Amino acid sequence: MGSLCNFIRQFTDVTFLTARSLYFNNFTSSSLCLDTAMQPIFWIVDNVVRRLGPVFVFLVVCLTTSVVLTFYIYIMPFVFSCGLHWVIFHLVFGHWLLMNIIFHYYKAVITSPGVPSKGNLSKIGITSVCKKCISPKPSRTHHCSVCNKCILKMDHHCPWLNNCVGHFNHRYFLQFCVFMWIGTIYVSITSWPLFYEEFFLTPVYPLHTQVTMFEKSYHHMIFYEFFLCSGVVVALGALTLWHIRIITRGETSIESHINRSETKRLKKVGLVYKNPFNFGARENWRLFLGLGEGRVFWRHILLPSSHFPFSDGLQWPTTNHNVVDSVVQDETT
Ligand SMILES: [Zn+2]
Ligand SMILES: [Zn+2]
Repeated sequence: MGSLCNFIRQFTDVTFLTARSLYFNNFTSSSLCLDTAMQPIFWIVDNVVRRLGPVFVFLVVCLTTSVVLTFYIYIMPFVFSCGLHWVIFHLVFGHWLLMNIIFHYYKAVITSPGVPSKGNLSKIGITSVCKKCISPKPSRTHHCSVCNKCILKMDHHCPWLNNCVGHFNHRYFLQFCVFMWIGTIYVSITSWPLFYEEFFLTPVYPLHTQVTMFEKSYHHMIFYEFFLCSGVVVALGALTLWHIRIITRGETSIESHINRSETKRLKKVGLVYKNPFNFGARENWRLFLGLGEGRVFWRHILLPSSHFPFSDGLQWPTTNHNVVDSVVQDETT
């Protein structure tokens, strides 16, 4: 009886050990398990974002057009009653913003963020390999699961652009955000006196009063203009400030997460992590905006300009040319 129990115990132990050895992986962790379990949801989200991309772009164009038309039809008559100097200010400032918003949005949508093709990869050494593309991946490059390709200095996939934000269109994206943000602040401030008068000072029309179509639509459109723009001011303001912060620190949205976890990891072993692409705020901005060598702020940033950043997106100088730092960055991607 004792030997039978022994046999059953041994048999059970060996079976469990064999089963566990089949799926044992030294790199398995709770976050990897969670990541694997969430894969179907990621797949659905990626597909929805990919298919709805053109709808989001259409929405941006329609909403922007409606705000501009409302401004021309309902707010400009008020502007014209404020005196010649205000008229000149609104015409110049408003159209300068509109020109920059249209230009930078168009360029952010149509410009490729940069893809490491086989031709240009021959210029660099292999730093890591993309598991999805099964091809070499330059430093700062990441795979976009919506576009299903590797993107140079990828920041994020933007559904509102139906495009990835990466090395070659990040400046267009940021300038669009900044000009759109200033534009919505401008429209909110300009429409505020009309909104205030319409909703707090004007008495409600009695039922028998004859109200023209223009007066009826004026009421709704002033409400629409003010609330849409002030809502965008808050949402877009948060996004724009986030990008200003990470560019000042010489990183992308993806790298900010990597750098944070690397800082924590190295702190545990008594080391200080330094972002190898942080050249100081001023130089980071100069590199990002592509200024210098004949390019100046007032002409190439305040006015529409199609210039690209200086770097080819494949090779990146680092602050200390410390290869270890760069490798740490790549291994975590
Ligand atoms: Zn890839
Ligand atoms: Zn993408």
